[in-house]
Amino acid sequence: MTMLGNYIDGHNLASDSGRDAPVYNPATGEESLRVALSSADETRTAITAAERAFDGWRRVSPLKRARVMFRFKALLEANAERIATQISREHGKVYSDALGELTRGMEVVEFACGMPHLLKGEHSLNVGGGVDSYSMMQPLGVCAGISPFNFPAMVPMWMFPIAIAAGNTFVMKPSEKDPSVPLMLAELLTEAGLPDGVFNVVNGDKEAVDVLLTDDRVQAVSFVGSTPIAEYIYTTASSHGKRVQALGGAKNHMVIMPDADPAQVVNSLMGAAFGSAGERCMAISVAVCVGDEVADHLVRDLKQAIADMSVGPGTGQDPEPHMGPLVTREHADKVLAYIDSGVEQGARLVVDGRAFKAVGHEQGFFVGPTLFDHVKPGMRIYDEEIFGPVLSVVRVDTYDEAVRLIDAHEYGNGTAIFTRDGDTARQFCESIQVGMVGVNVPIPVPMAFHSFGGWKRSLFGPLHMHGQDGVRFYTRMKTVTARWPTGIRGGAEFSMPTMG
Ligand code: NAD
Repeated sequence: MTMLGNYIDGHNLASDSGRDAPVYNPATGEESLRVALSSADETRTAITAAERAFDGWRRVSPLKRARVMFRFKALLEANAERIATQISREHGKVYSDALGELTRGMEVVEFACGMPHLLKGEHSLNVGGGVDSYSMMQPLGVCAGISPFNFPAMVPMWMFPIAIAAGNTFVMKPSEKDPSVPLMLAELLTEAGLPDGVFNVVNGDKEAVDVLLTDDRVQAVSFVGSTPIAEYIYTTASSHGKRVQALGGAKNHMVIMPDADPAQVVNSLMGAAFGSAGERCMAISVAVCVGDEVADHLVRDLKQAIADMSVGPGTGQDPEPHMGPLVTREHADKVLAYIDSGVEQGARLVVDGRAFKAVGHEQGFFVGPTLFDHVKPGMRIYDEEIFGPVLSVVRVDTYDEAVRLIDAHEYGNGTAIFTRDGDTARQFCESIQVGMVGVNVPIPVPMAFHSFGGWKRSLFGPLHMHGQDGVRFYTRMKTVTARWPTGIRGGAEFSMPTMG
């Protein structure tokens, strides 16, 4: 059985920690390889490599650093099929979805290619008599990234392309559930000409993470994962003097106004709720219907659309299923327990995915698409993040009630409103207490040149991922105020020297 190790100082390195974990093919339920869980010492070795590489890398001109990113982007394109296949094999999402994830990650690499422009800073001439002022955006040093299982390519690429192009070095700790792709990315960076030690991958769990959070040499920590861990990362790393951005969980509501286009609503909801088996932090898990009539129609149409869905293994299929399995048996069991709790707490189960079996893949970690109606706050399926293919319909009487519901939820990652009325949409965008808002767009994931992040308990720390916030996060500003009281100008001789 293959044992994945680490990537340190430009090389794959076996781990000798003596601890490891299984990695599954979720479609078959089989263990496909194992991943080392690195020791604290091995994590420190990666930090040492990154620290050593920093002084040289920070001095490489931003233009040359950006050229490494251009080559990296070309290599990602050339290897896209191989990477997407591996994502699908370890995560379970279908191939086209894996390719989409990779594309969204590549867009951040494209953004990072513009680093010479992004690092230009500000300049003011004559802030006082003969005094100029300008700012420099300088790299921090060693930065660390800790990522979740659900986007093994995209989420690491929200972080390291910007950090590296800005002149930092990086230690990445990927999810232990699907660890192969970050190692592939490390190899491609080396092939693109990145000097050894600038990007390192340490596989592992809490033992490795705790070193990244507490070692004095790490300057900044980027985290994406569940809220309890995000909060732990934020409090621990910031109490050790690091800057931190820690993105957490979500419960994304979509408001359906009575004037919304019903066909558009159903199509949008199906993809947003069940795409990637609901394992997206921007998945819609709650449909808030304004009025019983809207809800009755929607539930009827969703029931039909779910009946037409195909669920199966994600790789090598033609035509491809709409939805694959969940990442592990443990996670599938957790989702099934949520469905049980919804029934016990009185929600109406319209479509039950609990008994679903994929033919020929009976041992796979599948849960069928599930639909609840008459869901209310106080039920666990409403209050908590399920992170599976379970959509809850909540009925409200008015727009204001819908807004109050969303604002009262502990999470504030994404939300959407479907309406034909510009005034309602505009009011929603302005007032809603959520970080990313869609208007007739169900999954409003900002592009790489904007920033990604939620509000409330979906994000700890002031700066969002990528876009201008990403550049700010991975640089510190130095402002110079300069006066040159005397110079050689007066005494210089500009006429042609002659002998006489
Ligand atoms: P997770 O919190 O279990 O793990 C995330 C990372 O933290 C992994 O690398 C893991 O090894 C590490 N980790 C886990 N427990 C730890 C501990 N006790 N101490 C230190 N490190 C620990 O999350 P997950 O299950 O991999 O991912 C799913 C979660 O991520 C969902 O809650 C989802 O909403 C969230 N997510 C959020 C966003 C966002 O942008 N807000 C994006 C993607 C995923």
